[in-house]
Amino acid sequence: MTLPLFGQCDKVVSSVEDPGPAQMTGSELPADVKDIDWFFPANYTRLVSFSGTPGNKASHEGVDYVHDDTTKERVYIHTVAVGEVVYVREGCPESSQFKHNNYNRECGAGWGNHVVVKHGSVLTRYAHLKKNSIVVKVGDQLYAEQIVGEMGNSGRSEVRHLHFELGTKRDMFDPCGMSQNFDYVYNPNKLNYNQRTGIDDELAEDTAKVVVYNDPHHEIIKVKMPTSHSLGQIISIELYDASGRKLEELNKLDSNGYGELQIPYSSGSQLIICRIITEKISFSKKIVS
Ligand SMILES: [Zn+2]
Repeated sequence: MTLPLFGQCDKVVSSVEDPGPAQMTGSELPADVKDIDWFFPANYTRLVSFSGTPGNKASHEGVDYVHDDTTKERVYIHTVAVGEVVYVREGCPESSQFKHNNYNRECGAGWGNHVVVKHGSVLTRYAHLKKNSIVVKVGDQLYAEQIVGEMGNSGRSEVRHLHFELGTKRDMFDPCGMSQNFDYVYNPNKLNYNQRTGIDDELAEDTAKVVVYNDPHHEIIKVKMPTSHSLGQIISIELYDASGRKLEELNKLDSNGYGELQIPYSSGSQLIICRIITEKISFSKKIVS
């Protein structure tokens, strides 16, 4: 058997039980946190707060966002800021979405299937994801609110929820290694989340239609929002390139609920991120034009 070399894994797939974490509670968040735009990771029906005293091992190392509404089949997990995926763990089973998980509860060190993303000097961890739902891999550059997977009940979990951690680590994550601790964890509620965010994935998917039209000189992105919808008034529609550079912004729709943005034509496909901000929510859609 050949072991993978450091840096060559885009994820680790393993259903074994790893040693549990020991993460200390940090005191001050790193200074660059205030320069980053933070967005909310998921919809939820109730939450369980972070718990820990600076300098001691945290007793609850993150915030749990529980979604126990059985009528919602999927709850998407979004990255909270622009960042790079540094670790992906898959392969942990779950026995059911809405009751005590009976299978391999210490798989992924209790975190189950999880993703770690680096944003400047801080890291975020998205834990207990649904098996086979993770859609990102190590090395991916993510835009804010990009979907990383679906909320699940893998690992040490009693009900479908996201355990969301904010932390720092002196050493790099080994992308080929088993589950790894942060050195310090912080209360994620200390982040200054973007005011308008509160994602309703299903509503967003049903409501906004984003279409790309090509003509010889421009690619035209058309956004259609019904004039009567429950998301509130449109505040802006913004287009970004894959590196996060803003290309265009539109601040109102026409009376039929259409908005139209033009981007310079480039031959070959390019990734465009369309962010739609309304009074009630903001969400992003990925467009390949
Ligand atoms: Zn938790």
